[in-house]
Order: sequence, then C-alpha cells, then structure tokens
Amino acid sequence: MEKIIVSACLLGLSTRYDGKSKPSISEEQLKKLAEKFHIIPVCPEIYGGLPTPRVPSERIGERVVMKDGADVTENYSKGAYETLSVCQLFGVKKALLKAKSPSCSKAEIYDGSFTGTLVNGLGVTAELLIKNGIEVFDENDINLLIAR
Ligand code: SF4
Repeated sequence: MEKIIVSACLLGLSTRYDGKSKPSISEEQLKKLAEKFHIIPVCPEIYGGLPTPRVPSERIGERVVMKDGADVTENYSKGAYETLSVCQLFGVKKALLKAKSPSCSKAEIYDGSFTGTLVNGLGVTAELLIKNGIEVFDENDINLLIAR
C-alpha cells in the first residue's frame, strides 16, 4: 500500500502553536484515506524542536519569525529536513499538509505582519518537499486524493 505523510494536527493531534489540533478532515474522509494509504503523521515544527504550545510564527522572505520577534528560521529549516528524511526513509511520495501554515502550506501563508493577511506562498516544509519531488496536497484536496 502506498504511504502518505499527513500533518499531525489534521489527524486530531494537539501539535498546533495554540496547543490544539485542527481536524479539518472528517472521520469518513480519514477512513477512506486510510483505506488507500498507510498514514504517517508528521509535525515539522515539533521535529524542529519547538514546544507546544508556542508563540505563532510567520514567514518573512527566507526567515521565520515569532510574533514576539524571536527568529526561528533554524527550527523551521530543521523541521523541514527531518520531514524530508521521514519521506526518504519510508519511500513516501505524497504529503497531505495543513493549509495556511508557515511550515505546511502549499498555497497561501500569512504575510509576516501578524495581521491575518494571506499571500501566495509556501510553508518551509512544503517548499522543501516539492523541491524534492514529493506531491503536496492540503485538506482542500482531500476528496481529490481519495478519489484518485
Ligand atoms: Fe500542523 Fe504542520 Fe503546524 Fe505541525 S507544523 S502543527 S503539522 S500545520
């Protein structure tokens, strides 16, 4: 069976910056996903050594900065490479990641002003995975992924 990495917070694990999960996938969708794929939960920000809960972060160009001004670029980079290592270890070619995250998003991210403004852009991990040939989906694509 094909393997897929999935953002842990989408699976209901409490890995988000606010100490909560974001289970945007229904139980039915998760069941169907599990019928097609071996699911491997990942959280790049935890892999990068950040605590939960933590101060929220946003990308500013190549840097990632917390709302309190702390530069966490290295943590985000480490988390991205660790996630890539998981993919390489297990031969994973697909990822289902959380939208709008500075790590996981494949389409839109917040613009670094902490005002809730979205711009086109990639999360640090999604960017690295795409560069390495991993197909990245988000929760808005789940029905497409299941129907494939
Ligand atoms: Fe979810 Fe990704 Fe943020 Fe971890 S880094 S909490 S998996 S969106």
